[in-house]
Amino acid sequence: MKVFVTGGAGYIGSVAVESLLKAGHEVVVFDSLYMGHREAVSEEAVFIEGDLSNQELVRQSLLDHRPNGIMHFASHTMVGESMEKPFMYLRENTVNALNLIEGAVEAGVERFILSSTANLFDDPESMPIAETERIVPGSPYGESKFIVERLLHWTQVTKGLRYACLRYFNAAGCTAEKGEDHTPETHIIPLVLQVALGQREKIMIFGDDYDTPDGSCVRDYIHVADLASAHILAMEALGEREFFRYNLGNGNGFSVKQVVETAREVTGHPIPAEIVDRRPGDPDILIADSTSIRRDLGWEPQYPDLKSIIQTAWDWHNNHPSGYTS
Ligand code: UDP
Repeated sequence: MKVFVTGGAGYIGSVAVESLLKAGHEVVVFDSLYMGHREAVSEEAVFIEGDLSNQELVRQSLLDHRPNGIMHFASHTMVGESMEKPFMYLRENTVNALNLIEGAVEAGVERFILSSTANLFDDPESMPIAETERIVPGSPYGESKFIVERLLHWTQVTKGLRYACLRYFNAAGCTAEKGEDHTPETHIIPLVLQVALGQREKIMIFGDDYDTPDGSCVRDYIHVADLASAHILAMEALGEREFFRYNLGNGNGFSVKQVVETAREVTGHPIPAEIVDRRPGDPDILIADSTSIRRDLGWEPQYPDLKSIIQTAWDWHNNHPSGYTS
């Protein structure tokens, strides 16, 4: 298949591109390089530098390439930032997606896969979180993703575009070639590894008075290569099915303190840590119930444990101490 990947120069998108190429697909990457890195895009992929807000460019790119499927990764993704810049998130994440969806319909694209988020479930009634959980977006970011899920719903109903929403929990880990390189970095695993690399004095643990076994927040870390394989399975399954939505995680929760401890084991560095105030907006526990995608698509994570995930991240960061510019 020919797959059009928005955000293919970003952290998760670049790994999806790598996996698609390995599986024999043709890939066209569309990325503004606002957060992504040109070096992260595999050489075999066609690259278009462009912003999804440019509706005419999106439309023309899709008409030129006429892909069979779209994987839509490009968006603003930070919960905290979205609380400070709600209109940027609510406008750009939704309007840009609509430009893409409209272009997809015009170009006769058959399948659309959306990167959605666990931030749809701010106040879950049960843990782990299944697809039946009621949706309560936790931020303008989460709300923007939910709106895009609804845009896809109505496009499927009215125009027949098949779609899948994959609601990720905490993406983590690296492949040998593709890694996590955000500026500024806010995610726990790369920050902990920066301490081990001597680039940061210590890690700040945001709160140890949560309602969890050790008081620090519990999250479900899922390897980016496992996210990528879920996307490919979803793309294939849309040949048979009109639409579906799945929660995507390992189904195991690890606390921030466990992340730091595991990183100490993997790196052999003492990684000094300091407990500081809570970060606004962090729920105590987020764990995915991924039973449905395992059952329906046969998805099986290759990195089900935290240690192997952190090991892959450590390998990449060791080889790329300054990220993609290394
Ligand atoms: N966290 C932390 N210190 C940091 C960065 C993150 O204690 O310097 C915590 C954060 O409060 C959350 C967990 O690590 O409980 C995962 O945060 P991250 O930003 O990696 O992902 P998110 O859960 O926000 O998607």
